[in-house]
Amino acid sequence: MQFIDLQAQRRRIETEINSAVQRVIESGRYVLGPEVGELEKQLAAWCGAKHSVSCANGTDALSLPLMAWEVGPGDAVFCPSFTFVATAQVVPALGATPVFVDIHADTYNMDPASLEAAIARVKAEGKLTPRVVIAVDLFGQPADYPAIKAICDREGLKLIADNAQGYGCTLNGKYSSDWADISTTSFFPAKPLGCYGDGGAMVTNDSRLAELVESLRVYGKVTPTDAAQRNFHHDPKYLSLRIGMNSRLDTIQAAILLEKLKLFAEEIELREKVARRYSEALGGKVLRVPHVIEGGQSVWAQYVIEHKNRDGLQAHLTASGIPSMVYYPVPIHQQDFAARFAPPAGSLPVTETASCHVLALPMHPYLSTEDQDRVIAAVLGFNG
Ligand SMILES: *Cc1c(COP(=O)(O)O)cnc(C)c1O
Repeated sequence: MQFIDLQAQRRRIETEINSAVQRVIESGRYVLGPEVGELEKQLAAWCGAKHSVSCANGTDALSLPLMAWEVGPGDAVFCPSFTFVATAQVVPALGATPVFVDIHADTYNMDPASLEAAIARVKAEGKLTPRVVIAVDLFGQPADYPAIKAICDREGLKLIADNAQGYGCTLNGKYSSDWADISTTSFFPAKPLGCYGDGGAMVTNDSRLAELVESLRVYGKVTPTDAAQRNFHHDPKYLSLRIGMNSRLDTIQAAILLEKLKLFAEEIELREKVARRYSEALGGKVLRVPHVIEGGQSVWAQYVIEHKNRDGLQAHLTASGIPSMVYYPVPIHQQDFAARFAPPAGSLPVTETASCHVLALPMHPYLSTEDQDRVIAAVLGFNG
């Protein structure tokens, strides 16, 4: 049994993927070829948003809007500590300060009350300027956007939805890009919508921001608005107006993603079925089974349970031939790189408790009912 079986999906669409890749190879348009534009169109349409701009990975997708807003030294960016390190690491990489916010115990997503308290603390200290909130759609389910967006509006803060694990998730039928200034995602292979290497994208309804991040992903190239406002004496193709980076999506990856998108809605349903079956069998038998926010649809990047003897359970599962993973064993504020920004001990109690109890079980759309039953039996068979 595999924790995430990527080959099951590949076998299902092998012919389509192989010919899509072959077409790109023969076309010779390897970087930002026509498939990239087509993918961006479809990614935006999926979320009912105006724009999508692809990039090299989900980390750059977070950095690019921060760069567009010129976030840097002296700026505070609020984010959870219970997430993949990329969410927070982009902040000091630009010279700004990450301010860590606690999570809800039931959804593992940002707790709006903790966010409000963190903003008030930063304002009272008077050393940093609050600028941006990064909410994460952890394990595939949407953050509490109505509450978080209201706080951002009141405080004049930009909102990024780190949708790397949650592309396609909804809250009351709406996507994170309906609330956030920009929603960012990753196509790392193990994410719900993954490619065959690295890839990422941003989705936004802010036309000016879309133009800026598109410029920044290619060294600050001239945008259509720049061209309309200024007369350039050279071919603007080789002019650079702002400091950016090189963060493009390979055409081959876009071609692969276009094939995968055709299955994506069905795969979300298949993941939902696995999750329901797990929860029916395990609910009440372990410390926690996943709880999705009311009105939310998770895309189930992970199915995470809690157990008071998590390490014992994991050893028992391993001995039974069942793969499992701990996301995340060390909260970001306790990692070496974040020592300078760490809040006082005990100030993120929900995060610290969750990190001791969480265990992710095998989850993918093609997990057979037999394998699900083996996982369930092994969990229930642990009495430690
Ligand atoms: C995977 C992930 C990222 C980073 O994506 P990459 O494509 O690996 O750079 C950022 N945030 C979260 C929450 C993630 O899970």
